[in-house]
Amino acid sequence: MTLGMADDLSATKSSPPCKLCGGATGQFIERNSHPIVKCRECGFMFALLPPNVSAETQYVNDSYFSAEAAHGITDYDSLWDALVSHMYVPRLKRMLELGGRGGKHLDIGCAGGNLIVHASELGWECYGVELSQTMRSCAAQRTGRPIFASLNEARESGLRFDSVTMFGVIEHLEDPSGTMRQVAAMTAADGMIALSTPNFENPYAISGALIDIWFIPPEHISYFNRSTITGCMTEAGYRISAMDGIFGAWRAWAGDTSFPRWLTAALKPWRKNKRLRPGGLLGAILKRAYGPAARPELYRRRDPADLKSAEVLEIYARRAGNET
Ligand SMILES: [Zn+2]
Repeated sequence: MTLGMADDLSATKSSPPCKLCGGATGQFIERNSHPIVKCRECGFMFALLPPNVSAETQYVNDSYFSAEAAHGITDYDSLWDALVSHMYVPRLKRMLELGGRGGKHLDIGCAGGNLIVHASELGWECYGVELSQTMRSCAAQRTGRPIFASLNEARESGLRFDSVTMFGVIEHLEDPSGTMRQVAAMTAADGMIALSTPNFENPYAISGALIDIWFIPPEHISYFNRSTITGCMTEAGYRISAMDGIFGAWRAWAGDTSFPRWLTAALKPWRKNKRLRPGGLLGAILKRAYGPAARPELYRRRDPADLKSAEVLEIYARRAGNET
């Protein structure tokens, strides 16, 4: 007899069909009072939000990007700067390495525009999409580039993009398949997309350990693994060029320094959902012992054979040529 094991899905009449493949789903777990269901066919998991909760409104509301939000990212700018220099710029270079051509570039979920600054330095002609009005004007001011208020607005521009980045976005979407088709329609034939999302095959995903990137509805509501993200992108019209895994991403999110796992775990009760940022003497000691200077490598890629336990998946894909 097994009780509540991962694949022991209890059937409920209210379980909707899978958003990716249309297969039957069953109740999987519950987090933050939101049921999460899992597809029996493809394994895709998603949270069921009540009708009065829209996934998008929390990002339009600027509080997502400030310390007042119950969910969201406090002190977004400093976190972003660390991510940009250590994670995002190498991804842009990886796109070129895989045959991407830069050109007209769209960064979806561009926040304050930091990635656009770096992509512009590579000579790319950048555009952004950002739902938050405050972040949008910040990005527009900082980059001097057009920042669209929605994907629809980007589509209405009639532009076709040679490259698209969509980092840490798809797990926030209520309709990932529909959105990927919309993005593919704006991607030029043979254009490249780079996308990242948490890997829910990771052994820590269920326990929610180390970093807050796992089952955290209403923020993260679509939960992918190697196979479901591949299916979603292929179905939208992309061919996968490469899939990389990121290890050690927890250091970037656990606080603003590279604390070791045991310390992050030990301090968790005091964090109260805030980022860990001790000041004073303790902060100075920790920074010296574990700060960026002590651990310059914030994350590293692994080869595809190890991807099962990666924390974050990076997928690079090309838009299939317009054969039709
Ligand atoms: Zn499915």
